[in-house]
Amino acid sequence: MMTETDESNAKQLSGHQEIGHKSLLQSDALFQYILETSVYPREHEAMKELREITAKHPWNVMATSADEGQFLSMLLKLINAKNTMEIGVYTGYSLLATALALPEDGKILAMDINRENYELGLPVIEKAGVAHKIDFREGPALPILDEMVKDSTKHGTFDFIFVDADKDNYLNYHKRLIELVKVGGVIGYDNTLWNGAVVAPPDAPLKNYIRYYRDFVLELNKVLAADHRIEICQLPVGDGVTLCRRIT
Ligand code: SAH
Ligand code: CA
Repeated sequence: MMTETDESNAKQLSGHQEIGHKSLLQSDALFQYILETSVYPREHEAMKELREITAKHPWNVMATSADEGQFLSMLLKLINAKNTMEIGVYTGYSLLATALALPEDGKILAMDINRENYELGLPVIEKAGVAHKIDFREGPALPILDEMVKDSTKHGTFDFIFVDADKDNYLNYHKRLIELVKVGGVIGYDNTLWNGAVVAPPDAPLKNYIRYYRDFVLELNKVLAADHRIEICQLPVGDGVTLCRRIT
């Protein structure tokens, strides 16, 4: 039997899918208010251009939302990040946010299995004068991380790592990234509320990919909450982002 909470969750889930905006806020008006009041007026012109190019791409739902881009930028500056990593680039919205937020000699090791989408955004990144900070590697991230873990000089060297790729590998990434991030550094796992599906009742009408990856996201959230090497903070920004600060 469906409880009242289940029912309201199911309604919210289907409502959210109809709305289709990139926020878990249940009010469309509130999300628009945030964007129009605080985000769009301060968005870098290159970020706006890249966002508009990406909006025309068929997979644009994957792109980081503008409010989350603003959040990442603020976070990177607050922690004085210099050496960073990004897993899952797509057309580069979060990558550009990072590149603009880092100092001139900042670095981003960026990985994606798809170079074509990265190249769609690259001219905008170049025009913004921040392409020199980016080291893009085409291919699956896991073998690249394995290589780095083998090299002890890479251990504890990253100030910030943004993980926004294949959700079924997040725990595999975590095992390696915890070695590569420095003590006091931050790993951000994106999409940890998974379209709200983390609270969907068993019979909720979920899209296939949402249903498939949901169990991996649920498992990740449990493991992160129990991992004593990190402090965590799960924020309802975008599709949910969990910040993990390495403490040992
Ligand atoms: N951060 C991006 C969105 C990333 S979407 C933005 O702000 O727009 C997820 C990306 O992960 C896709 O581009 C996909 O090609 C990439 N991806 C999927 N599996 C991967 C893997 N095993 N290794 C690296 N990247 C992967
Ligand atoms: Ca994402």
